[in-house]
Amino acid sequence: MQKFDVIIVGAGVVGCAIARELSRYRLRIAVLEKEKEIGQGTSKGNTGLIHSGVNADPSTLSGRLNLEANPLFDQLTDELAVPFDRNGSLVLAFSSEDRQALINSLEEARTNGVQGIRWLNREQLLEKEKKVNPEALGAIYAPRGGIICPFEFTLALAQNAAGNGVVFRTGCRVHKTITEEGRVVGVETDQGFFQGDYLVNAAGLSADEMNCVREEGIRIKARRGQYLVYDRDYPVQIKHTLFPRPTPVSKGIIVTPTVHGNLMIGPDAEEIEDRSSLETTREGISRVIVGAKKLVPALNTSDIIRMFSGNRAVAGDDFIIRPARRTRGLILAAGIQSPGLTAAPRIAGLIKEILQDLGLNMEEKDDFQARRPVPVRPGNMDYKERAELISRDSDYGQIICRCEGITRGEIREAIRAPLGARTIDGIKRRTQAASGRCQSGFCGPRLLELLQEYAGIDPLQASLRGGSSQLLKYHSKELLLKAGEGLADI
Ligand SMILES: Cc1cc2nc3c(=O)[nH]c(=O)nc-3n(C[C@H](O)[C@H](O)[C@H](O)COP(=O)(O)OP(=O)(O)OC[C@H]3O[C@@H](n4cnc5c(N)ncnc54)[C@H](O)[C@@H]3O)c2cc1C
Repeated sequence: MQKFDVIIVGAGVVGCAIARELSRYRLRIAVLEKEKEIGQGTSKGNTGLIHSGVNADPSTLSGRLNLEANPLFDQLTDELAVPFDRNGSLVLAFSSEDRQALINSLEEARTNGVQGIRWLNREQLLEKEKKVNPEALGAIYAPRGGIICPFEFTLALAQNAAGNGVVFRTGCRVHKTITEEGRVVGVETDQGFFQGDYLVNAAGLSADEMNCVREEGIRIKARRGQYLVYDRDYPVQIKHTLFPRPTPVSKGIIVTPTVHGNLMIGPDAEEIEDRSSLETTREGISRVIVGAKKLVPALNTSDIIRMFSGNRAVAGDDFIIRPARRTRGLILAAGIQSPGLTAAPRIAGLIKEILQDLGLNMEEKDDFQARRPVPVRPGNMDYKERAELISRDSDYGQIICRCEGITRGEIREAIRAPLGARTIDGIKRRTQAASGRCQSGFCGPRLLELLQEYAGIDPLQASLRGGSSQLLKYHSKELLLKAGEGLADI
């Protein structure tokens, strides 16, 4: 039997931020994740913005936590060795009504403590961002808005938490919360029973599928957002994140650089029935293109290398972060739609405070390690540093992904590291291999070989993202035999 003080369901950015925060204390903590790898839910598929808080309403939990969390990112990303750029955001006005509404929100944002914001007239706006639609009347400039890789941030939180003693179990779906006399005693999972005194539900889109959460009357709806990603060499380059005036349900379709140097446009906002669907649709993509071209008319559809979608977990208008009313020991972190990525560090702080209030004894560790080892990134090195690295370890001189220039050494370490990659998508998100122009056309077979070499995964079992996404049906030898049999049932 495995006994823990706190069990966290879900290894998205919220679950991993909570795990990292709690790992500062002498506690036995487990994070249980149903997917083959961590961070495979909404936390991998979003815009990757650290919102400035310019439109955040501090009377809501999501608005307050956004405002509180934004300033934490400089220290946090430094500790976790995660690339983060305060590239600044621009919220554009296209009508006098937009302008008035944005100027009003500027005053509110100042009152709410958002630093450095100011109004730019059309000339100032075009000077700051040359490709912006010259029909824009002006914009709010928020220099504290930033961009981050949402997957790498989630992974870094998890690796740091694991380094500080948190147990992570992947491929471990939680089926049922077990209670005795109205109090949590543990969970039933694919990997057996885990005993725990406190249970934090951070299960994203599936948060309401667990028995005790349903009893709280929480229902999650999925609101899909679709995106297009441009090749890194795309000639239209944008430095800031460009927003239209927000609507009541969405911050609108935006144009933004990513920390990996691509241009990205999206997302739209559409309620869908099937929360697990990650389809992109003709209508959604058209909406994204129209919305983005309004901000930057020079955008076209050449050099688009990828489309994807992500689903927001919506449970009403605000985050639900509180102890359950009917089950003692259960804490909810549900309905964490946007800006959940930004708010994650403060959501974690709030969950810690709730656990303390519920009576969990928290004694700080003397040996908590705030820093994650810095991953080796030859692409960020100068020629001399790179040559020295290759002379020590020749795997860093062997390019596997030609589009992004990713080496065998980087992929090897992504697989061997704690909570290492076990799927092709896992390698892609950790290293950027397979994320470039050819989208794994050239490096895919090599990645399968490396998964076999460093994680012992038979290529026939290897998958794109776990589940039923296996890539191969036969070994080449079998394939030749089948061919000899007249390609029987291939
Ligand atoms: C289109 C879009 C754009 C967004 N853009 C931004 C942005 O720019 N900035 C920002 O701040 N926020 C943004 N967000 C919001 C942000 O992405 C989410 O708030 C955040 O990722 C939610 O994290 P999470 O950990 O709650 O959920 P998830 O990442 O979905 O994690 C939940 C995890 O729980 C696991 N799980 C579920 N059920 C079980 C079970 N029974 N047993 C075990 N594991 C289980 C899942 O597999 C999953 O890994 C955006 C969201 C979307 C969809």
